[in-house]
Amino acid sequence: MASGNRDIRQRLLFEDCDIRGEIISLETVLSEVYTRNPYPEVLRAHLGEFLAAAALISANLKTAGTVTVQARGDGPVPLLMADCTDRRDLRAIARMPEPNAPLAADLRELVGSGHLSVTVALPGRQRHQGITPLEFPRLADCLSDYFSRSEQLPTRFWLAADHRSAAGLLLQALPAQLQRQDARDRSWEELRVLADTLSPAEQLTLDHQTLLHRLFHTQRVRLYDPVAVRFSCSCSKTRIGSAIVALGTDTVAELFDTGPVIETQCQFCHQHYSFTAEQLRAEALGGGTSLH
Ligand SMILES: [Zn+2]
Repeated sequence: MASGNRDIRQRLLFEDCDIRGEIISLETVLSEVYTRNPYPEVLRAHLGEFLAAAALISANLKTAGTVTVQARGDGPVPLLMADCTDRRDLRAIARMPEPNAPLAADLRELVGSGHLSVTVALPGRQRHQGITPLEFPRLADCLSDYFSRSEQLPTRFWLAADHRSAAGLLLQALPAQLQRQDARDRSWEELRVLADTLSPAEQLTLDHQTLLHRLFHTQRVRLYDPVAVRFSCSCSKTRIGSAIVALGTDTVAELFDTGPVIETQCQFCHQHYSFTAEQLRAEALGGGTSLH
């Protein structure tokens, strides 16, 4: 990856047509995720695309919140998920496959029969979750299809990742303002076709400025200052405690059968947590669930 292009996201705006975008490159975030969970290389490439997608979508958050992109199914890897907050804190996890499980480049074969969900959680407000079947081999196509049906504005994703780095481009049409509707639609089609010529190798190696120039040199594109994204986990003793309590009284009692302290760690970041029955009871009271 070109130097200076790591773990940054940039907004872009086409000066002469009603189309905006976001572009992202990830590297250190991925190594932080894979240091904690050493996934096989094929799975890293998939998870890299999930991370890039969550970071692109979260750029649209207007207030504090978290965007989660998640696939669930019955295949060799039944769960992949990545989330990104408005503060650009990224994390991801996948269910580790069996040692000899076949890991396909086709997302539908990897995850199996299942669905993709995009969740926007805003504290103090209702969660918004959109669900779509996994109908395309690539995450970018699943998301583009989902957004084209759920958003009124044409939206499209281009994602690429290998086992070390990931990159993403999002283009979205804006309500016609500078242009008439039919002219905007023609611009959208033109830019979409140009972006479709992007190869994964270009996406993973070119810096943002060069990449945009190579694709859209006939357009005036404004590229905004880069913002840093980073690996960071939102786990806390209260959240982990609430999750244990939610397992139910019988399961919690069984956990204490082996000793006076429950030891656990966050699956995302491997932070270690331990609870005595007293501490867990305190978390339960805080969370409003009774524990005997
Ligand atoms: Zn954590």
